[in-house]
Amino acid sequence: MTTYLSGIQPSGFLHLGNYFGAIRQHVQASELPGEHFYFIADYHALTTVRDPELLRNYVREVAVTYLALGLDPQRACFFRQTDVPEVQEIAWMLGCQTGMGLLERAHSYKDKVANEIKPTVGLFYYPVLMAADILAYDATIVPVGKDQQQHVEMTKDMAGYFNNTYGPVFTVPEPKMALEEHFQTVPGTDGRKMSKSCGNAIWIFEEGKPLKKAIGKIPTDSRAPEEPKDPDQLVVFELLALFLAADELADWKHTVRTGGEGAPGYGHLKMRLVAAIDEYFAGARARRKELLEDPAELERVLLRGAEVARERARAVRDRAFLACGLR
Ligand code: ATP
Ligand code: MG
Repeated sequence: MTTYLSGIQPSGFLHLGNYFGAIRQHVQASELPGEHFYFIADYHALTTVRDPELLRNYVREVAVTYLALGLDPQRACFFRQTDVPEVQEIAWMLGCQTGMGLLERAHSYKDKVANEIKPTVGLFYYPVLMAADILAYDATIVPVGKDQQQHVEMTKDMAGYFNNTYGPVFTVPEPKMALEEHFQTVPGTDGRKMSKSCGNAIWIFEEGKPLKKAIGKIPTDSRAPEEPKDPDQLVVFELLALFLAADELADWKHTVRTGGEGAPGYGHLKMRLVAAIDEYFAGARARRKELLEDPAELERVLLRGAEVARERARAVRDRAFLACGLR
């Protein structure tokens, strides 16, 4: 049995990187045979979000985003992390087997601290909780963006430490990255990895003036349109590649590489990007607005998902309790 599982933090509004690196794969995978678990990692978001009203809003938005983008809660178990407290119990058992050195090597922790996020114990411990999230459901495949690959490798290590000490309790998962490389790490408006917590994100549902403003921030330089340029060095092309058909993308690249009269300037390329985003997400934007009108139904969907998830997590926790002598 293949069991897919992944999560997204409600640490901000979901962005194009979350969509192409994660949500899109989750929705596609949920059509495949097997079990599917997708969750809103609200415990994790507490590492960076300190405003309770904002956090509640982000959780609601993540829920609505998944459903608007096509996740079918009848096919996939969709739930909130905090509705399954057993993950915290599993995290503790894993943490007691995990060396400090493993966590000290985590890129994500170092990146966040470098971005001036407070280095709390929670932020440091994040990979242990994430390992518990994955192991609690006997997941075999974890579809994530490239930035999370290391955390899944760490999960495999943690499962290994526990299993070596106590016997085969946890199922060892494998990470799965989006098929095409340009979906694996989507750049933000400053050219670094797009992240909710780095102020460089383009919200999936941004539209109108704010969308133009966000796209306007993509770094360019003062070279004239006529000057030939290498399109593969331009952030705007990395983003265009997410949306345009291969032949259209190749045409744009060709004109930029050749330069001369009639070659598009940065403004022109950015306008094409705005139009492509508008077109791609038009249906989802409309569905999001409808879903936001019925918060009670949203809550019912999440609670139904949690019931299924919790039953599985409880069984795994009980297995671990028994193995390590807590029962
Ligand atoms: P935060 O800044 O709070 O860590 P984030 O934007 O990195 O937020 P996460 O919730 O950590 O988002 O990650 C959710 C999923 O989105 C993960 O599978 C992650 O790999 C993927 N993801 C995040 N950013 C990108 C990106 N720029 N390109 C591709 N995938 C991404
Ligand atoms: Mg992240």
